[in-house]
Amino acid sequence: MAYLDMFKAEKIFPRTWQITYEFAEFGPKIDPVYCYLLEGDTYALVIDTMYGYGNLRAFCETLTDKPMKVVNTHFHGDHIAGNYHFDVAYIHWRDLPYYYGKNFSLPGGGGFPKTQQEIYERAKFVAKPEYVDKLRLEDFKEATPIELYTIEDGDIFDLGDRQIEVIWVGGHSPGCIALLDRKNRCAYTGDCCNGNTILGIGNSLPIEEYLENLLHFYEFRSEFDITYGGHQVIPACVVEEGIELCARILAGTDDKEERQTRHGVSTYGAAREPGGYRRADGKHFNISYVPGKLLKEEKKPQIIKN
Ligand SMILES: [Zn+2]
Repeated sequence: MAYLDMFKAEKIFPRTWQITYEFAEFGPKIDPVYCYLLEGDTYALVIDTMYGYGNLRAFCETLTDKPMKVVNTHFHGDHIAGNYHFDVAYIHWRDLPYYYGKNFSLPGGGGFPKTQQEIYERAKFVAKPEYVDKLRLEDFKEATPIELYTIEDGDIFDLGDRQIEVIWVGGHSPGCIALLDRKNRCAYTGDCCNGNTILGIGNSLPIEEYLENLLHFYEFRSEFDITYGGHQVIPACVVEEGIELCARILAGTDDKEERQTRHGVSTYGAAREPGGYRRADGKHFNISYVPGKLLKEEKKPQIIKN
């Protein structure tokens, strides 16, 4: 299978594409994984790089002839694993410590894929049955280091004729960001806020802190109508729905639907989902969280031993 055939792109705005995998299987309860390519006059911005199967850079080069920079919405393996196809990437400083660390978001087990064989095996794990035998080891590039720079809230990617602003919405991961595209009245949100916002994992932030960051995101709310996430495309009202539901969690009035996440941690779903996937009241936002991790903790100095 030629590596370019692994991807498909849909134009969502002028010089702006949503990219996903053609060959991978996303079941009825599993959302696909998306990344985005935004072309400007000076350079093109690649927002997230998915699982690293195939050669995302070569595919993007069929859409743009501009030099490319990558920005990661956060450090999870389904958002950064394809970075090694590119030369330069940017990530929020609070996610930097985890970038090369053990990464649980990859199917088939944890760990950032470091070898061609590992990337190949993981591609076979998610492939549709008709594609499994078509995947070839040589389709998968060996992972290589790249230049990595940190960003923070308020930074701007100036692509020449369009500017994309970084908004810190830490919660799902400490350094989660959204990227505001004012020209197209949209925000690229990674896993910041969606129908399955997971705050039940190791280094997610407490609900109180996440709520503060959602309120910060809300300051920009009049400037976008839709969110293009890493797995879902949802109207921008998901932000106020998130604020409402987090406030209910802190008040103790959410639905507290018991769940077992795939990462083995017992969590609550804040809004009931009778079908096990979407809210009964038609709202888009939902969140899973650890009951004991609601309030901000007092900041203490680091004690580094050994
Ligand atoms: Zn994530």
